[in-house]
Amino acid sequence: MIKMENVSMKFGGLYALSDVSFEVNEGELFSIIGPNGSGKSTLFNVVTGVYSPSHGNIYLQNHKITGMPPNRLNHVGMARTFQNPRIFKDITVLENVMIPLLARSNVSLFSEIINIKRQKREYDALKPIAINALEVSGLSDKINQDASKLSYGDQKRLEIARCFAVSPKIILLDEPVAGLNSEERESINHLAKSLNEKGITILLIEHDMKMVMGISNRIMVLNYGKKVALGNPKEISNDPEVIKAYLGVEESDDGTA
Ligand code: ADP
Ligand code: MG
Repeated sequence: MIKMENVSMKFGGLYALSDVSFEVNEGELFSIIGPNGSGKSTLFNVVTGVYSPSHGNIYLQNHKITGMPPNRLNHVGMARTFQNPRIFKDITVLENVMIPLLARSNVSLFSEIINIKRQKREYDALKPIAINALEVSGLSDKINQDASKLSYGDQKRLEIARCFAVSPKIILLDEPVAGLNSEERESINHLAKSLNEKGITILLIEHDMKMVMGISNRIMVLNYGKKVALGNPKEISNDPEVIKAYLGVEESDDGTA
């Protein structure tokens, strides 16, 4: 589904990603873990076209997408959330989800003659899709609220709803549970899993190794921009490189090793 081939990303003299290759299969829930600064968000930014990699190529369903801009990638089925939620606070929860739906619909927002009737028809046709996405994401009772009133957890949920609404092939989630309490973490994890069960491929970044163990098909571990391991949760938790580079430190901290 998504393939990265020998991708490097250099900022000044520093390699945020160094010769990273991996492939995510269709329908997979694939997680990327690693300490802060290990290159996880950079990898997302390269996959989603925010940055063009210094070296290497990226493929979506065997089509080269290296350097393709984010808006074009949206149109070919890629949706993402951000580490810090990016929602429009001055409008309602529903309107936040309507924006990407209207943007990709046939009604051109840029048409010179504004056909109000047609736009209204289009809006009414897309509204149930937005409402369904909000229901799936657990926001059905907040549809008409101002987005500014949402808790941090609900903002993260709204970003996910916005992704789901446009029927993507793949959703990339950048630390969807960071900053949330354990109950909210559990419920967002459940949401990610349920989207995956609907057939959407999920690429998940999580700082917390334990969180991803339960829901991932496979996990890739980054450290200093390099891939240090890739395997299923069991293989990852037993990998000596991972324990040395990452887990060893984390797990001895809280005595759960
Ligand atoms: P992670 O998401 O794993 O915490 P990042 O991908 O955000 O890590 O960062 C990896 C490294 O790349 C860090 O050293 C970071 O400072 C650097 N970096 C990320 N984005 C930029 C940028 N736009 N310009 C310069 N350095 C960057
Ligand atoms: Mg990050």
